[in-house]
Amino acid sequence: MAIATINPATGEKVATFEALTTAEIAAKLALAEQTYQQYRQTTFEQRSSWLKKAADILDRDQSKYAALMTLEMGKTYQSAIAEVKKCALVCRFYADKAAEFLAEEVVSSDATKSYLAYHPLGTILAVMPWNFPFWQVFRFAAPALMAGNVGLLKHASNVPQCALAIEKILLEAGFPEGAFQTLLISANQVADLVADDRVKAATLTGSEPAGASLAEIAGKNIKKTVLELGGSDPFIVLDSADLEAAATMAISSRMLNNGQSCIAAKRFIVQASVSDRFTELLLTKFQALTVGDPMSAETDIGPLATTSIREELDQQVQKAIQQGAKVLIGGKPITESAGNYYPPTLLTSIDQSSPTAQEEFFGPVAMLFTVPDLEAAISLSNHIPFGLGASAWTEKTDEQQLLIKEIEAGAVFINGMVKSDPRLPFGGIKRSGYGRELGKLGIREFVNIKTVWIR
Ligand code: NAP
Repeated sequence: MAIATINPATGEKVATFEALTTAEIAAKLALAEQTYQQYRQTTFEQRSSWLKKAADILDRDQSKYAALMTLEMGKTYQSAIAEVKKCALVCRFYADKAAEFLAEEVVSSDATKSYLAYHPLGTILAVMPWNFPFWQVFRFAAPALMAGNVGLLKHASNVPQCALAIEKILLEAGFPEGAFQTLLISANQVADLVADDRVKAATLTGSEPAGASLAEIAGKNIKKTVLELGGSDPFIVLDSADLEAAATMAISSRMLNNGQSCIAAKRFIVQASVSDRFTELLLTKFQALTVGDPMSAETDIGPLATTSIREELDQQVQKAIQQGAKVLIGGKPITESAGNYYPPTLLTSIDQSSPTAQEEFFGPVAMLFTVPDLEAAISLSNHIPFGLGASAWTEKTDEQQLLIKEIEAGAVFINGMVKSDPRLPFGGIKRSGYGRELGKLGIREFVNIKTVWIR
């Protein structure tokens, strides 16, 4: 994929970038390695003051960064502003908490003193997706930098200007040159980086094939990885649920980021007794959504990020229809105007054992299933290769407890939509990946947990 900014709302190619040469990558790796040797000696206080400055810069220039995200990948400007604010939040969170999360932990043993120390590893490579072009990077960079690591970013090829802007923010904030570098490279240049001795670990957020490919090379080279991959999260609605609240959240969760979020609710699994009412509520809310210019405050859903994403999504929808799915609304691309627009689409009557039911739809398309009871809801929820998050709606505490225990996912949200929060760990199981970002566990992924024994 060419490294370029192509406005998804118009199709206009705004800027193109050359991929770094092998020699340029080597120079950046050398700089990372050299910087690390000094950077690891800096104190939490020093790193914290730089990260807080980065948060201030994000706040100061939020409209500029939000407009850049909207330009490069089509999210609504309003949601892009919220994303920049969340990046500032995660910076301040780790700036305040890293010293506590990585403090030595005394453990009694046969030593005079024994304890765990959390030391940095070195250069960490982050391969990131375009869908939250700032947030995905900051949720990696904030803890990694606070832990004393240095970072290399290979961002998605369609958000190069976001990638460069993030590097600039961290430099302006005071981080030493080389502490965080953006590498404008293509996906096929990643393998050599992962194999390079100077790269100590890697994290990838994106698709399963990309994750598997990175992990394979990391495995051959005995390197730690964290993978945040796809999902097709269930959104379970049982008969005691507040249906209005559930339907409102269902829309937010499915349509967030023009439907392109890994933790979006993608499969709506509804108990038969409330299915008609919930479907009606959902449909009314789908009808009320405005698709259009992502810069406009009136817009709920902007364009999909690339033409190929729209094509793939539409192919999935057409395949589902051929296999018997019914379309309650939407179902084909909007072609009257330029841009990668796809309407809110609601599919029902999908065979629960069909391949479609197991796929991730990365756009504003919802699948609606009806089940007789809680057991069937849990079974259908788990009948999928992914395990990222799950949202379940019920007022009954026994049902809540069973859902929490039985759902195969990295997170279960009861009576709320699945979301990320700097304070809470985030990550999946099954083919959604492994490892955790955010919270205390997130900062401990890329550290040497050193056992110290003294007599
Ligand atoms: P993608 O194609 O896998 O791209 C993600 C990143 O990986 C990009 O930087 C991409 O670079 C790079 N990449 C692609 N193939 C690679 C390879 N073989 N080796 C190394 N790097 C490679 O993902 P996407 O389609 O843009 O993103 C959508 C997917 O990401 C969805 O499945 C979504 O659920 C998932 N996602 C997961 C999370 C989470 O936290 N679990 C969050 C957001 C998105 P290029 O752009 O140059 O190809």
